[in-house]
Amino acid sequence: MIARYELRCSRCAKPALRHDAPCAACGELLEFALQAAPVDASAARAYVAMVAGRRAGNDPLDRSGIWRWRELLPPVPHDAIVTLAEGNVPLYDAPEIAAREGVAALAFLHLGMNPTGSFKDLGMTVAISAARAAGAGRAICASTGNTASSMAAYAARAGMEAYALVPRGKISGAKLAQMRDYGVRVVEVEGSFDDALAALTDGAHDGAAVVNSINPYRLEGQKCTAFAMLEARSWKVPDWVVVPGGNLGNSSAIGKGFREARALGLIDRLPRIAVVQAEGAAPFVTLYRSGTDLIPVVPRTIASAIAVGAPKSWRKARAELDASNGVAVAVSDEEIDAAKGRIGAAGIGCEPASAATLAGIVRLRADGILSASDDIVAVLTGHVLKDSDASVRVADRRDVGA
Ligand SMILES: *Cc1c(COP(=O)(O)O)cnc(C)c1O
Ligand SMILES: [Zn+2]
Repeated sequence: MIARYELRCSRCAKPALRHDAPCAACGELLEFALQAAPVDASAARAYVAMVAGRRAGNDPLDRSGIWRWRELLPPVPHDAIVTLAEGNVPLYDAPEIAAREGVAALAFLHLGMNPTGSFKDLGMTVAISAARAAGAGRAICASTGNTASSMAAYAARAGMEAYALVPRGKISGAKLAQMRDYGVRVVEVEGSFDDALAALTDGAHDGAAVVNSINPYRLEGQKCTAFAMLEARSWKVPDWVVVPGGNLGNSSAIGKGFREARALGLIDRLPRIAVVQAEGAAPFVTLYRSGTDLIPVVPRTIASAIAVGAPKSWRKARAELDASNGVAVAVSDEEIDAAKGRIGAAGIGCEPASAATLAGIVRLRADGILSASDDIVAVLTGHVLKDSDASVRVADRRDVGA
């Protein structure tokens, strides 16, 4: 089974000559579009079995949960690939929480169990490898902490310099410490993540590879989340996949992964995708419900990883919700903290942005959008140690029984 990908505009479909600039015709983000050859079911089964078998090998590419799927990724010369054995993530069943919420099944796919503690590694291995193959000596990103930590680790492995623009005072101490551990150069920017990203895209960055999720290689790695989830469920499609939304690259990537799995004959239907935002940073919920274009907001939420007021991938994410009959929902910071406490008490743990998934599930069940028969996977995006202030806040509140 050979897939072929064409780099083109995600909006007007015009082919693109380079990946590191928006569409020359309409200004939208690019994507690697699958040129699907129809695959017969037995060839699809054989491919999936071959990929599963790679896990037992010792080749670093086979040990990566991303590069195991290399036939479904844009081609990168193997000697340029930088991998930290990312993508081998657990799917944790949570029957008590499912019973409490009155749904048939709930499991957490924990992408925080990646080498640098967030899903960013899934895309970063592809973006840094492609940058290295193109001869870039430097990488740069705007970040609330996790993208920069991931970039810094992979860039260090690749022998590249790394520069991070972060919003001053708005990121967790653990994330700032982690990225510095890998040797990143930090530039603090006044304002929010959106201001840091604007400073990056407006400025000259002199041949440095931009590795935010506007880089289409990032989303190709992150789409493998869909494959990992399906593989862990023996290719049984869940009814719902619930994912937190900030800049909306990840929800776009996961939706793309499921659509490609269907196009390749690996599954025969799509799960519905639910994007959860924090109430203080919910421009996508607003636009999805009203049918308008993006109206940026000034983001305010304790869930710093989703404190994004002008998400770049909103059109891609909207297309994925349209394709999957999905929904977008906003939850309060109090609901996020309560959900974080429950995920911790289940022995799983995550950072606040990830806990927004469970808060969203509670809301969607109360609203009657989730039903008693639903089989749900929530995507936990970041590790519990990413934001220890949040853990202390949530645990203190739980201990006093508030
Ligand atoms: C980056 C991040 C998000 C948001 O992902 P987007 O692709 O920006 O929507 C959510 N949770 C965590 C922990 C993150 O690091
Ligand atoms: Zn275009």
